[in-house]
Amino acid sequence: MVAILKKDASQQQIDNLCSWFKDRGLGVHISKGESHTIIGLVGDTTRIDIDLLQGLDIIESVRRISEPYKSANRSFHPEDSVIDVGGVKIGGGHFAMIAGPCSVETRDQICAVAQAVKASGANILRGGAFKPRTSPYSFQGLQGEGIKLLEEAKKLTGLPIVTEVMDIHQLELFENVDLIQVGARNMQNFELLKELGRMERPILLKRGLANTIQELLMSAEYIMAGGNENVILCERGIRTYETATRNTLDLSAVPVLHEKTHLPVIVDPSHATGIARMVRPMSLAATAAGADGLMIEVHNDPKNALCDGAQSITPEQYDELARKVNCVREAIK
Ligand code: PEP
Ligand code: MN
Repeated sequence: MVAILKKDASQQQIDNLCSWFKDRGLGVHISKGESHTIIGLVGDTTRIDIDLLQGLDIIESVRRISEPYKSANRSFHPEDSVIDVGGVKIGGGHFAMIAGPCSVETRDQICAVAQAVKASGANILRGGAFKPRTSPYSFQGLQGEGIKLLEEAKKLTGLPIVTEVMDIHQLELFENVDLIQVGARNMQNFELLKELGRMERPILLKRGLANTIQELLMSAEYIMAGGNENVILCERGIRTYETATRNTLDLSAVPVLHEKTHLPVIVDPSHATGIARMVRPMSLAATAAGADGLMIEVHNDPKNALCDGAQSITPEQYDELARKVNCVREAIK
C-alpha cells in the first residue's frame, strides 16, 4: 500500500502517521520528493481501512498494491483449487454439471428430474428447499421437507445435492447436504459466512445482484478466514440498466476471477437471463469462457413450476444442452 501525503503535511503529522502504521505491525518506507512525501507500507495491509486513511487531513491519496484478500488470492496459491463435493471434483479441469429444479416441489418431481439430468450427464443435483422470494406471498419452499426429498433423490441416483441456506438456524437440517449454497441475496450476510467458515462442507457462493467481483472475493475470504477453504464461486448475472433479460450475465467475471483467485468459478445462466431459450447459448458461452461448471434449472413441467418456470428448461432440452457443452469443452481443450 502506498500513501501520498499532501504538500503541507508537517513533520509532526508524518511522524504520527508512521507510528500509527508501525503500531499495526507494518514496515514504513518514506520517500521525500520535491513537493510530496510518499509512504510505502510493507507487510500485511489487509486489516488497514483504506477509507479511514483517505479521510485523514494529511493524505492526498492511498493506493493498494496488493488485494485485501489473502486466502482466496491466486498470488499466494498459484494452482487451481479442486473442491470435492460428495466425491465429485470441481475446478482444475474438473467440470460441474449442476442441474435440477428451482424448488423442490414433490417427491415425484425431484426424483424424475434427478434421474433425467443424471442420464444426460449431470453430476450434482440442485433443488431449493428454502426459497428467497421477492414476495412474501410467493411459494417459500418446502423447507425441511424439501431437504428430505432431496436426500431421497440423492439415494435414488447417487448424485450429491446442493441447496440454499438462508439463515444460520437452518444449518442443523443440512447434515446430508453435500454443497451448501449461499444465494445472491445473502452474499454479504457476514454472520452466515462466518458460521459457514467454521464448517468443512463445500460452499457455493453466488455473486450478489449488485456486487463487484472484489466484494464477491471478500465474501469468499470471510468463509476461508474461518478455516473453510472449500469455496466455489458462482456468477449468476448482475443488475444493470438492461431490462431485456432478468439480469446481465457478466461473463468476463469468469476470466477475471480466474486471474484473481484459485477458487473454481461456475456460471448460472438460468438466473442470469431469466429466459429458458437463452440458457443454452449462455451455457455454451460460459463454457467457452473457461467456467469450471454450470448450474442450470431443469423442470419436468416448466409451465406449472412453483418458482422460476420461465427460465427452466425441460429434461429433453437439458440433454441437448449437455451434449453441446461437451462439444465446446472438447473444442477449447
Ligand atoms: C437459486 O439458485 O435458487 C437462487 C435463488 O439463485 P440466486 O441466489 O442467484 O438468485
Ligand atoms: Mn430459481
